[in-house]
Amino acid sequence: MESIFGYMERYDYENVLLCQDKALNFKAIIVIHDTTLGPATGGCRMWQYDSEMDAIEDALRLARGMTYKYAAAGVNLGGGKTVIIGDPKRKDREPIFRALGKFINRLGGKYITGEDVGTTLKDMEYIRMETEHVVTLPTYLGGAGDIAPMTAFGVIRAMEACCKRVYGSDSIEGKTVTVQGLGAVGHNVVEQLHEIGARMVVTDIDPGKVEAMVERYGVDTVDPDTIYDVDCDIFCPCALGAIINEETLDRLTCKIICGSANNQLKEERHGHLLEEKGMVYAPDYIANAGGTIYDTDRLGVGGVSHDRGKEKVSRIYDNMERVFEIADRDKISTYQAADRMAEERITHIAQVKKYVDDLRP
Ligand code: NAD
Repeated sequence: MESIFGYMERYDYENVLLCQDKALNFKAIIVIHDTTLGPATGGCRMWQYDSEMDAIEDALRLARGMTYKYAAAGVNLGGGKTVIIGDPKRKDREPIFRALGKFINRLGGKYITGEDVGTTLKDMEYIRMETEHVVTLPTYLGGAGDIAPMTAFGVIRAMEACCKRVYGSDSIEGKTVTVQGLGAVGHNVVEQLHEIGARMVVTDIDPGKVEAMVERYGVDTVDPDTIYDVDCDIFCPCALGAIINEETLDRLTCKIICGSANNQLKEERHGHLLEEKGMVYAPDYIANAGGTIYDTDRLGVGGVSHDRGKEKVSRIYDNMERVFEIADRDKISTYQAADRMAEERITHIAQVKKYVDDLRP
């Protein structure tokens, strides 16, 4: 990153806040990217960075990603992010997360935080002691609790839309799906695909997780290294990023790639390459938005409703259809179409907000 203001100007950021408390050895960066659709929202990451600039750049990049994620998901929230610079295993958590809560509270609701890499629901409880502007909370504090089942449900809805595009029917029944990673999301994907009647080949680096899926659902298994070689209809990555690359594209024979893993394309050009091979790609942040949609649904509407939240997650099917429409309209790849869908929504809603303001005396 050449300069902070240069980067902010290039991608139109609103605010970057640097927070510190020497006595607590606390340093954090809060980034507000765009509040056109609503308060900037995005989790709090705790990580050790090589330099302060690396931490700022990460916070900036992640905040902008949240703007796109919410906009494309049809959620009325903007994008933001917090990065705490520090060891994610640090033991004295209450003072630092309460300090962060104080800083967030000063923003008066312009930024809402949540859990992310290196932070836990317990940390969110500490933040909640100082501010109400925290979304990811356990059910006993009015939050949605475990959101992984809803992330998995959203992945299935995206998969159905992809099946409609490829096979003319959105049914996954009888299709062969390879699932990479059987963690919080992956094992829920397997459970839901089992109910639908898909055939599955699964893998994980943890043999215990694989064994559990075999016992429960009678799925087939392969070694982690050979998952890309399995003859299948759908590849569902639920573990790592950068798994769509030159090497794996030579091996994959599926028609659809649709999973929860973040940053699946190693480089953007791999999004074009897979389409040249005749594969349909569900952009990761469209397919994996279910948990986020469910988690934030309670904001402003008086609490968690499972039915309402699930209905909103279900609309990931429509979001995918819109991505395909834009891809066809503008003759671009699906990952580019997802960005365009998000940008168009922000532009249109900014116009609506202006119109409403114009009516005020
Ligand atoms: P998790 O840590 O619970 O599960 C990941 C699983 O992948 C683990 O079981 C791990 O053993 C396995 N794994 C790691 N390396 C592997 C490899 N080389 N081959 C096969 N398996 C491997 O994580 P999660 O919460 O299930 O998230 C999975 C992915 O989805 C991540 O990329 C995450 O960022 C993304 N995601 C998760 C959510 C959510 O609601 N949890 C929401 C959006 C995106």
